[in-house]
This record gives sequence, structure tokens and C-alpha cells, in this order.
Amino acid sequence: SGWSETWTWIDGAWQGGNPAIAGPRTHAFWQGSSVFDGARFFDGVMPDLDLHCQRFNNSAQALYLKPIMREGEILELCAEGVKKFSSDKQLYIKPMYWAEEDGPGVISCDPESTRFALCLFEAPMAGDDVSMSVTLSPFRRPSIETMPVNAKAGCLYPNGARAVREAKARGFDNAVMLDTLGNVAELTAANIFLVKDGEVHTPVPNGTFLNGITRQRMIQLLRVAGITVYERTVAYAELKAADELFSTGNYNKVVPLNRIEERTMEIGPVSRKARELYFEYAHK
Ligand code: PMP
Repeated sequence: SGWSETWTWIDGAWQGGNPAIAGPRTHAFWQGSSVFDGARFFDGVMPDLDLHCQRFNNSAQALYLKPIMREGEILELCAEGVKKFSSDKQLYIKPMYWAEEDGPGVISCDPESTRFALCLFEAPMAGDDVSMSVTLSPFRRPSIETMPVNAKAGCLYPNGARAVREAKARGFDNAVMLDTLGNVAELTAANIFLVKDGEVHTPVPNGTFLNGITRQRMIQLLRVAGITVYERTVAYAELKAADELFSTGNYNKVVPLNRIEERTMEIGPVSRKARELYFEYAHK
């Protein structure tokens, strides 16, 4: 198959490739009762893996799944899993919970049927030279009353997926998604930061976007480095008028933006600094 090298711990053993783990009755496959998290291994480090494991178990609770693994157990399995690969590989680390059986009302799951798998696969990360273009998505983020947006749940992703497709069809790499009130929320699977006059601004978590672990780490690192960071309501027009834009997410950590709509922009000093600060932190 076309899958990169993959190892999955399930039911007490490691399996290579893409083993079949769902059937036609699997609740998650049918009704979307699945959560996951995404962390990274590179250069021998797995930055903030403990926070990813915590969020993973919180996501389970938000979806009424049963977090059947303790954080420490998942951390140990991650350490074991990365050894399946040659140490120079860059890996995506994906713990998953899903429900096997139906619960009350059928659309809800039976939490007692929660299953766990830890999947690791080879996935190269963007280098220092990578940047991307964005446009405004016609699709918006749901609010906390409509979806459990602070959980990393599979059921939340089709909305972002259609935003990416729509943006790509218009020649952009990614899209800015607004919240239901029309303020900037995030990119389709990463958080967004703008730089104006040497200061950094990013949307304040308001229950419409994932308050990313990389986002929170980035804010802390920038502040320690003496750079002012405001968490506040951000309008789309401000992104278009920014000196620099960059995004954060576990997958590629920090990626500068090179274009918003028709306006191109250079990768600026604060975006470079943000990327440097993150990797300096990661390698410590
Ligand atoms: N928003 C969404 C919707 C995401 O899927 C992700 C990736 N997990 C992020 C933001 C960035 O979060 P993190 O830094 O925790 O990866």
C-alpha cells in the first residue's frame, strides 16, 4: 500500500502496517465516536507529550468515551513505539480511543466498549524554508454549544477538511476560519498569530477553536523572550494588514505564511524567531 512505515499498539501487541481494527458495526465508524491526539517525535525528542496525553484523555471524556489508559501508560508506550523506527525518522504519534458498541439512543456510544490504539507513523516535518498561503474560508467554526471544539475528536474534522479543499481549489494552501460571530478563529488544523509593530496578537480562546498545545507553548516562549503577546478578538482585516503571519500546530510546529489573499509577504524576523524559539525549546 501507499502508507509510510506504521506501527500500532493494539490489544497488547505491536502490529506493523495498517491492521483492520473496525467492523461494519463499530460505533465510531458509523456515528463518529472517536478521539485522538497528535504529537511528534524528531531528533530523539517528543515535545510536550505529557500535555498531548492529558488532552487525549480529556477529549475522551468530552465525547463520553472512557479513558481506559493512564497518561503514564501512554507515555511508556510512546517511548516503546518510537524504537520500532530508525532514530533519524520524523514520526507522527497518534493515540486513539473509539467506541465499538452502541449506547442509549443508538447515536450515543457505550463507554464500556471504548477501545485504545497507539499509532505511530513516519511523516516528515516542514523545514525552515516552508511557508504557506491562506484565504478566507466560506465555512465557519462551530461554537462550543454546537460541537465539543476543545476536544480532538474525529467528528470535528470534516468541516476543516472541506475548508482546505475549497481553498486549494482557489489556489491557496490553507484557509482562515472565522467563528460564528465572524472573528478569526484558526486555520483548518493549526492556530494563527499575527505580528504588528514587533508585537504578536492571536485570537483568545472562546470555545470555537482548539487551544493548541503548540499555541500555548509558543505564547509562553515568546513572552519569556521579551516579545509582547496579546490574546484577544482578532478581525480578518487585521490579518490582511499584518506585518507577518505565522501558524502553530503539532504537525509542523511553526509555519510562516507567505500570502493572504492577493497580498504576498516576506517571512519576517518575528516568525523566524518564533520558529527558532520552539525548536530550541524542543531540543532542550
Ligand atoms: N486546531 C485544530 C483544529 C487542530 O486540529 C490542531 C492540531 N491539533 C491545532 C489547532 C493545533 O493544535 P496543537 O498545537 O495542539 O497541535
